[in-house]
Amino acid sequence: MNYTTIKNKLEELKSKLEKEIDLYKKEDPYLLEDRSISNTLDDDITETEGHDRIYATQIQLTENLRQVQEALKRIEEGKYGICKRCGQKINSGRLGVMPQAVLCINCQSKVRQRS
Ligand SMILES: [Zn+2]
Repeated sequence: MNYTTIKNKLEELKSKLEKEIDLYKKEDPYLLEDRSISNTLDDDITETEGHDRIYATQIQLTENLRQVQEALKRIEEGKYGICKRCGQKINSGRLGVMPQAVLCINCQSKVRQRS
């Protein structure tokens, strides 16, 4: 497996995620400076929904970024492509579509079920 290619891919993904997180921060109505004080209740509800949705996306993006950073760290440590949980090799097809994966499919599904 070519680590340089994967590393480039991950670095690319990392800067893309960082930009997206930045963008979402700006879009959050709660953080807008010109937020109207004379909001009606409807406005407030819409705003809250917008905030919740953006917040959920932000969490998702931050989680992805964390995974990318972890994967990069694992390249440095020479552990890339090895499942963090069971120590088995992660399927290369999986790494092709999800280069930031640090768990194999089996472990990933177990982690998901638990949470
Ligand atoms: Zn595993």
